[in-house]
Amino acid sequence: MAKIFCVANQKGGVGKTTTTVNLAAGLAKVGQRVLMIDLDPQGNATMGSGVDKRKLAMSVYDVLLESASIAEARLQSDKLKEGGCSYDILGANRELAGAEVDLVNVDRREKRLRQAIATVAGEYDFVLIDCPPSLSMLTLNGLCCAHGVIVPMQCEYFALEGLTDLVNTIKQVKANLNDDLQIIGLLRVMFDPRITLQNQVSEQLKSHFGDKVFDTVIPRNVRLAEAPSYGLPGVVFDPSSKGAQAFIAFAQEMVTRIEAM
Ligand code: ATP
Ligand code: MG
Repeated sequence: MAKIFCVANQKGGVGKTTTTVNLAAGLAKVGQRVLMIDLDPQGNATMGSGVDKRKLAMSVYDVLLESASIAEARLQSDKLKEGGCSYDILGANRELAGAEVDLVNVDRREKRLRQAIATVAGEYDFVLIDCPPSLSMLTLNGLCCAHGVIVPMQCEYFALEGLTDLVNTIKQVKANLNDDLQIIGLLRVMFDPRITLQNQVSEQLKSHFGDKVFDTVIPRNVRLAEAPSYGLPGVVFDPSSKGAQAFIAFAQEMVTRIEAM
């Protein structure tokens, strides 16, 4: 049965999508069966996996509205196949922004995705969900399905402040909607060891959160930033780059953590 993880942080631009697509590719590379779900109307994880969000016949929106199953709406990407790191993709585009309104009168609307994933969970080792930069109904749908949350964060001054809101939301979801939910770990991303403040915040994180901080650190690396413009995760675009190597190490760390769960 698949282990399901949300990549979430309500702060924008912290590296959620980069983490989702590169972890998906890294896990595929080490032989795991992966479904990547884009739960953000921006559709960046869809585009970054080589699927054109403007040409989606069916998307996660149809799954939330129950007009399609995941088995019908999921796709594969030729680019990923060529790169030898293939994972399945449930795409998103701006249509998804309407889901919140469309589902407003629906019972148990926060559990729609959870029900849909249950029908395909046996086919995967990992399901990874890229959440939007908000604590909206979409993120709530993600948190309701997940066994764990991966929180990418930059080691900057305000990073810790935003974390409190996320931690409280996760506590509430755990208490009311999904007893399995836990923070699986905080992932330090875009890390630059030459910056003193980043080292200080990194140490603070470790002293506050202990082993909830992943050992792997993702460096700031231009190849990771260039890869999306080629419709590829960095792990596929330039596997030997420092950023890609870090995400492959992170995928291995995830596999080890799951075995211990
Ligand atoms: P949003 O909140 O808008 O969904 P996000 O949290 O998903 O954003 P990303 O889109 O992954 O964040 O990253 C934001 C920007 O930072 C992107 O341009 C991305 O290419 C770049 N980026 C992410 N990680 C790295 C890294 N390790 N090194 C260099 N650039 C990075
Ligand atoms: Mg994103």
